[in-house]
Amino acid sequence: MTYPWPGGARAAVCFTLDFDGESPYLWRSRDRRDDAVGELEQRRYGPRRGLANLLSMMDGLDLRATVFVPGWIAATYPEQVAEVHRRGHELALHGWCHEPPTSLTGDELHATLDRAIRTLEEISGERPVGYRSPSWDMTGGVFPILRALGIGYDSSLMGDDRPYEVDGVVEVPVDWATDDAPYYRYVGGDPRPPTPTGSVRDAWAAEIAAAKRHGTLCMITVHPWLSGRPARVAALEELLAPVVADAELCTPTVRDLAAHHRAQDGGRTVTLDRLDRPAHD
Ligand SMILES: [Zn+2]
Repeated sequence: MTYPWPGGARAAVCFTLDFDGESPYLWRSRDRRDDAVGELEQRRYGPRRGLANLLSMMDGLDLRATVFVPGWIAATYPEQVAEVHRRGHELALHGWCHEPPTSLTGDELHATLDRAIRTLEEISGERPVGYRSPSWDMTGGVFPILRALGIGYDSSLMGDDRPYEVDGVVEVPVDWATDDAPYYRYVGGDPRPPTPTGSVRDAWAAEIAAAKRHGTLCMITVHPWLSGRPARVAALEELLAPVVADAELCTPTVRDLAAHHRAQDGGRTVTLDRLDRPAHD
């Protein structure tokens, strides 16, 4: 069945930034005394340079993104986050300090997200309506917490290639193949060097061409500390310029796509607590 994309488009491309900065490192190393300054500084390239480089590129293309921001990052870099909002991009939740939900109790998750909502609201004057889980780590318990906080969509799961619904929350799905981390994340000692920019551009162009043929969603996820480097921004510009110019493609923010999905009839709903497990005896 053909998905009814906004504006009658054949397919959708969402461009999203996970503005993590050093927060994943700070969560992982919370019991550590001596900080690994090399990794901290590598990640701080995001707030220091990478985000601004990506914002300039998007301004040039007149492209609006969704930017998922851990609350601690918003509190630490309020000017950068305010600039994201000023330029018309959507701000959405990404934990407080990039804590994966599987490592928190339900009460802890609720408290961290509530705090992050208030922080983003203070900076932008707008209450966020979307969530992406840190590292796309999810539990079924996240959905009732999102509903209780008035968060209408999640963008962390890979169960479809078009929006669907999980436990009363619109799911706008992601894909590791169009996340920059598997290609660019390199922290020394890894078995392979970062993937060349042209290879990533070509792989993602093939993903977008296939989405157009099949009428699906291509969810692109980039991290300013990785994709904000100049050559990588240039590759993204080469990738996205023809997307923006293509009248058969739409490029909504995730918020707008989730709202569009909510307005459709007959969306597919998945209920996680009806999961049947095979018997092991
Ligand atoms: Zn993240």
